[in-house]
Amino acid sequence: MNHDELSELYQEVIMEHNHHPRNYGVLPNANHQAAGFNPLCGDRINLKLNIDQDDKITAIMFEGNGCAISIASASLLTEMVQGKPVAEAYGLFEQFHELLTGKTVNTASLGKLTVLAGVNAFPARVKCATLAWHTLKAALADDASTVSTETGNDL
Ligand code: ZN
Repeated sequence: MNHDELSELYQEVIMEHNHHPRNYGVLPNANHQAAGFNPLCGDRINLKLNIDQDDKITAIMFEGNGCAISIASASLLTEMVQGKPVAEAYGLFEQFHELLTGKTVNTASLGKLTVLAGVNAFPARVKCATLAWHTLKAALADDASTVSTETGNDL
């Protein structure tokens, strides 16, 4: 990893979200939740959210500890999916996955998530960036178990 790649990876936005994560804490009265773990890096994310009867994510908060990429990604995720229908959140994950695997995507709809695009050059880091999204998927499916980046879909 040379210096230029590093600076691309740890962009200002990522560091800022790592130091001041958005929607950080425990959401009271959450009706969906899940925990995620990335054993390759040691990242842990707990997600709690509220979904209303129209399948809209009305509130979302997270707690966790891990590397800057995992925390920043979780912070950006909470910003992106708050107030969105569940179906749209799934769609965002798909596009984010494509971004991180180096595919051409419509970056306009990804918004700030594009700051994590540089991660695609570092396969081990892709798991850090997608941990929060796998956890979100588990929470939406109401799967109470801990998801691990080392099982299930290989991403
Ligand atoms: Zn990590």
